Amino acid sequence: MRGGGAVSAIRYTLTTAKSAGFCFGVDRAVKLVYEALSAGKQVATLGPVVHNDAVVGDLLEKGARIISQVSELREGETLIIRAHGVSRAVYEELRQRGNPVIDATCPFVERIHRIVEEQSAAGREVFIAGDPDHPEVQGIVGFGTGNCTVFRDETELKYLIDRTLPKRLALTAQTTYNKISWADCIKALPADHPDLQIFDTICNATAARQSDADALSRESDLMIVAGGRHSSNTLKLVDVCRRNCPTWHIDDAREMFGLADEISAAAREALAKPQRSDPVLHIGITAGASTPAHIIKEVQTYMSEIIDTNITTPDSEDVSFVDELEKTFKKIRKGDRVKGIVASISGNSEVMVDLGAKQTGYITLSELTSDTSKKPSDLVAVGDELDLVVIQVNDAEGTVQLSKRRVDEMIGFETILKAKEEGTVLEGTIVSVVKGGLIAVTTDGVNVFIPASHSGLRRDADLNVLLKQTVRFKIIDVNEQRRRAVGSIREVADADRKAAEERFWATAKVGDVFTGEVKSLTNYGAFVDLGGIDGMVHVSELSWSRIHQPSDVVAVGDTIEVYIKALNPETRRISLGHRRPEDNPWVKFVQNYAVGDIVDATIVSITAFGAFARITDGIDGLIHISQLSEQRVTNVKDVVKAGDTVTVKITAIDEEKKRISLSIRAALEELGTENAETESEEVVYSDETPADDASDAE
Ligand code: SF4
Repeated sequence: MRGGGAVSAIRYTLTTAKSAGFCFGVDRAVKLVYEALSAGKQVATLGPVVHNDAVVGDLLEKGARIISQVSELREGETLIIRAHGVSRAVYEELRQRGNPVIDATCPFVERIHRIVEEQSAAGREVFIAGDPDHPEVQGIVGFGTGNCTVFRDETELKYLIDRTLPKRLALTAQTTYNKISWADCIKALPADHPDLQIFDTICNATAARQSDADALSRESDLMIVAGGRHSSNTLKLVDVCRRNCPTWHIDDAREMFGLADEISAAAREALAKPQRSDPVLHIGITAGASTPAHIIKEVQTYMSEIIDTNITTPDSEDVSFVDELEKTFKKIRKGDRVKGIVASISGNSEVMVDLGAKQTGYITLSELTSDTSKKPSDLVAVGDELDLVVIQVNDAEGTVQLSKRRVDEMIGFETILKAKEEGTVLEGTIVSVVKGGLIAVTTDGVNVFIPASHSGLRRDADLNVLLKQTVRFKIIDVNEQRRRAVGSIREVADADRKAAEERFWATAKVGDVFTGEVKSLTNYGAFVDLGGIDGMVHVSELSWSRIHQPSDVVAVGDTIEVYIKALNPETRRISLGHRRPEDNPWVKFVQNYAVGDIVDATIVSITAFGAFARITDGIDGLIHISQLSEQRVTNVKDVVKAGDTVTVKITAIDEEKKRISLSIRAALEELGTENAETESEEVVYSDETPADDASDAE
């Protein structure tokens, strides 16, 4: 079907491929799921029923579940087998479980099941051309009796038959297999094979889409292919079109917002080619077998809008909404403001509107609202009067495409202009991630483009984390004529951070306690977010124990309690403390131990002049070599080794220098051993260096 836009400077055609969008098998499967849900059934599908996020999302919202194996079925739940089909073993498993089943296997796939079953039973080896990982192929293989082999292409087939050519052979293919590759495979087989059966099972829907896309892209200046990013038949269409002209692959019509400049540039380039004689720009649209019709309609609409706005000069037919606001229209024309009464709501995608004219008015979901989380029934009810604008009149079909969203946007745009002028912060919901940024919809329904660099996220961050989030942003650029607005979340976040900083410096004082997240680590400390402002905890402040680096005790993302040790408002530096005085192991030690106590301690290190022994966590004392035994010791290692538990007497505590002296000899003496001489030596608290210890001890 070819439509067009009459403009004063440039003319263009917008053509949709003859076969585009849902194929028979997918359409049937999707309808069966909707029917089962409307009949009040608990429904699960074995894998997504279609490679289209919008449709799958809608089915999930309506209560369908996606499961990956039969064992996940709940009692009484109805399983819908999707168009790809399943293996015989899955049918058997379902029979044993007894759950109700609706079989939406495409009849073309069922035909392959029968072929494989018969040929396999007749004793033929069955070679299947296709992707062995594709669920359709796995289902097909499951109808053989163990004598099926899948090959991807002619090369793999040649390898198979070179190795062993089966005496009795049947050849078939996945429904979406490439026609040209199939022909190559047939040629690769020996023409004089005595028992070879060939079954061309490639589905016409796939082949027709590819040949229609090829034909259309040959006569187009640019192409748009709509369909899921993971849909194999859509990817094949993209390949076909790219061979002939510049092509964009989108899986949601909204992506065109982000592509407007790129598409416009390609269109201008095509029109400016010196050898070009045709003054008309030709744009083609096609879509994969999993793309619903309403997405194709949206693509047509957005494409018209892009060309009308960016490439052409508005002619006298383009009517200003504002000028027409109060007028009553008898003849419906593109751009008219009209009032319509909601006549019916069809599923989740369209609202039919009575305009009091001979044409039927309809509003697609994307023209009803920018908020993809809403359904038509959330927004309007039958009988509502709506303020609308005409975006397309199709006299041949007797339809008028209308938009409520654009009227809302026009009104909402006044708010945008005011916000830009006054620097007001607006609120909106992120509805999609597009090339180069995000689309936020304001509470007034206006789309605002947020460039990735203004998202407030790190450069390499995934923008999808903001999807469906409510965000605050400032308007940083407005194109009034094109009614486009650009916003910045980052500016608001920066301003918030600055305000938080000012508040902090106005009130913060030494001793204030905060609970903050560790933002980064260096060798010398950890930076902690105090609510928009970072402070540093020096490594020595992180733990009472000896640590080598901050990562020994904290990790980025940890939440820790800190207190302000020092502040410098001029350099804006904040030193934080983390370890608490009451946790100081030395304080605990002197509260609990005294000179004369006999305790068990663990040898932690050996030196030439003695051994260090740990009394409690973080508290070590020195047993001088002369105190290791009642006998004279010449080598410390002859008496103790690291890890030994020894009984010692605390012979001295130097609180000022935080040093503890210990003696095994004194302990033995006190415990009744004779000939003990007590002479304690000064020892060091574990923070001191062994060199100091040695000199003090001597
Ligand atoms: Fe059926 Fe063909 Fe569609 Fe596959 S592509 S579901 S075989 S109609």
